[in-house]
Amino acid sequence: MPDFDVIVMGAGHNALITAAYAAKAGLKVGVFERRHMVGGAVSTEELVAGYRFDYGGSAHILIRLTPVVQELELSRHGLHYLELDPLFHCSDGETPWFIWRDAERTAHELERLFEGQGEAYSRFLRDWTPFAQSVSELFLSAPGPLEMGKMALGQKGPDALRRLTRILRPYGDVAREYFSEERVRAPLTWMAAQSGPPPSDPISAPFLLWHPLYHVGGVARPKGGSGGLTKALRRAIEADGGEVFVNAPVKEILVKGGKAQGIRLENGETYTARAVVSGTHILTTAQALPDEYVPREAREVRVGNGFGMILRLALKDKVRYRQHHEPESRVGLGLLIKNERQLMRGYGEYLAGEPTRDPPLIAMSFSAVDDSLAPPSGEVLWLWAQYYPYELASGTWAERQAEAREYILNAFEHYAPHTRDNIVGELVQTPLWLEQNLGLHRGNVMHLEMTFDQMFALRPWIGASGYRFPTVRGLYLTGASTHPGGGIMGASGRTAARVLLHDLTRRKWK
Ligand SMILES: Cc1cc2nc3c(=O)[nH]c(=O)nc-3n(C[C@H](O)[C@H](O)[C@H](O)COP(=O)(O)OP(=O)(O)OC[C@H]3O[C@@H](n4cnc5c(N)ncnc54)[C@H](O)[C@@H]3O)c2cc1C
Repeated sequence: MPDFDVIVMGAGHNALITAAYAAKAGLKVGVFERRHMVGGAVSTEELVAGYRFDYGGSAHILIRLTPVVQELELSRHGLHYLELDPLFHCSDGETPWFIWRDAERTAHELERLFEGQGEAYSRFLRDWTPFAQSVSELFLSAPGPLEMGKMALGQKGPDALRRLTRILRPYGDVAREYFSEERVRAPLTWMAAQSGPPPSDPISAPFLLWHPLYHVGGVARPKGGSGGLTKALRRAIEADGGEVFVNAPVKEILVKGGKAQGIRLENGETYTARAVVSGTHILTTAQALPDEYVPREAREVRVGNGFGMILRLALKDKVRYRQHHEPESRVGLGLLIKNERQLMRGYGEYLAGEPTRDPPLIAMSFSAVDDSLAPPSGEVLWLWAQYYPYELASGTWAERQAEAREYILNAFEHYAPHTRDNIVGELVQTPLWLEQNLGLHRGNVMHLEMTFDQMFALRPWIGASGYRFPTVRGLYLTGASTHPGGGIMGASGRTAARVLLHDLTRRKWK
């Protein structure tokens, strides 16, 4: 008898979701995680006394468009989502404006501030809501070879051809087409840049065109920090009889006669199973396999050269923006960008192997909505900045980290002067830090580049996109290296579970 029905390697949120569905279906599940805690890039810890820091993703957006939380009954296991409204605080430093959950209110306020732009915002939502909804549905199933075509060509009506050409364009161009006011366009473009590709990349428009979904699913935070999601998943797995092991790095995936047999940990212990699911980066999965089972494509995936870094601060007082709107400015994601040139200049510096000197920022101060994150008078403030290369043209990250931290802090003080006087603790996460601590190769938070050559049926490569590892029977894949890619979404974990359960139980997915 094998030790488990299913062994899951890595406890990122996708892997935990696969494990939770498998345990719920009555399978004996064992999860093995390298770090001292579950969650990977969705985890939270008290790093400074009284201040709880997220290690990775913080804004829960895409997962709320899936049925994962309801199906796994995660609220019964302690997950409590706090809704953010406004969703976003957009600012060039002088003229802040807000994106509210209510699209009409957003458009109304925009129109008052910038004539014509509220109307443009409403038109943008009208034009692209059906497309955005069809993309979110595609996220929830295994990608077939026709999926990309369906997304692009599934446009109906008299305007279909026009819409198709927009989808194939760079998102920066599409934003310019809709919004004449740069103070409206730049933050929307900056949000679209979060998937990695720059605003000038062809076929990147979908990163902008799914914007209407923010009004549909909202933006939320688990109470207690982002890790509230993965803690609840762990409880769900354990409630269904699964076992979760931390400080348990997997060294090898054991394969015999082309079939996965189990795993060997770094400490030499072995565990057997009917099936193995890897939720780690695809390169980590490949490294754990005997060489003869690693197809060439697995070594040729495009991981890129990092793209962002984050400065996490514990503050003794609340953030005070120069253009003060209390408390709205501190609630949602702060899309802080002076103009589009700032983003493109940053991308240019990154291409040259240099840390960006004056980065646009996403500012997050979720203690404004969650009093468990900081002492009553204090604040957590996280500043995500782009672009920062993993491989530098000169020097090492150990040598250049302090300088890059200054760039980020200086950029933020344009919006909130004297923030540095308020710091009582911090964590600087460079692309190298992300690789060494979270297993994100070359600091790519999306695992692999989110470019068209690695999306849908091409992620991680054609032939491996169905969540089954093509050369090893009984080995399954999940996580950001698979469709639909990075972000806190869980769709990969859910679809991988569906494939796994189909193979192991021959039961139809309900
Ligand atoms: C700083 C940062 C900010 C982000 N911000 C956002 C955001 O606001 N919103 C959003 O939607 N997304 C955000 N993201 C992206 C998102 O968090 C990730 O894309 C997503 O969480 C990846 O999840 P995953 O399930 O693929 O697994 P991962 O989180 O990559 O987990 C893989 C797990 O495998 C473990 N592991 C690795 N090697 C081994 C081994 N040998 N044995 C056992 N275990 C192993 C790792 O320790 C890790 O726990 C952010 C990411 C980062 C890093």
